Amino acid sequence: MDCLFCKIIAGEIPAERLYEDEDCVIIRDIEPQAPTHVLVLPRKHIDSLDKAAPADDRLLGKLLLAAADLARREGSADAGYRVVVNTNADGGQTVFHLHVHLLSGRPFIFPPG
Ligand code: AMP
Ligand code: ZN
Repeated sequence: MDCLFCKIIAGEIPAERLYEDEDCVIIRDIEPQAPTHVLVLPRKHIDSLDKAAPADDRLLGKLLLAAADLARREGSADAGYRVVVNTNADGGQTVFHLHVHLLSGRPFIFPPG
């Protein structure tokens, strides 16, 4: 499958890996939109949140908890952070392997643009 994030997870394309376990890999975003901008990638290829199934419920929970753990370890939990799952075209998704953005280190406005 020609998927950028599957290739990063497999180590075929380099990325700065901050954390990994049996379910997910966390990398730094190549084009950071905040002082900390990382991506939580499930090892399992799922095109988007729209394609996630009820059987993925534990995995989806793990992605959020992994983002929260990293925010705590990076020291941004108390100040706060933003977690984003862009989905399909209007959601701004550009890489069609489900991922969770964790952004921190500056205030964010809501709603985003
Ligand atoms: P999205 O637009 O939600 O699909 O997010 C895709 C993200 O992947 C963007 O923030 C990109 O900057 C990021 N990205 C694209 N290519 C790479 C790469 N090779 N390594 C790390 N992040 C990447
Ligand atoms: Zn993939």
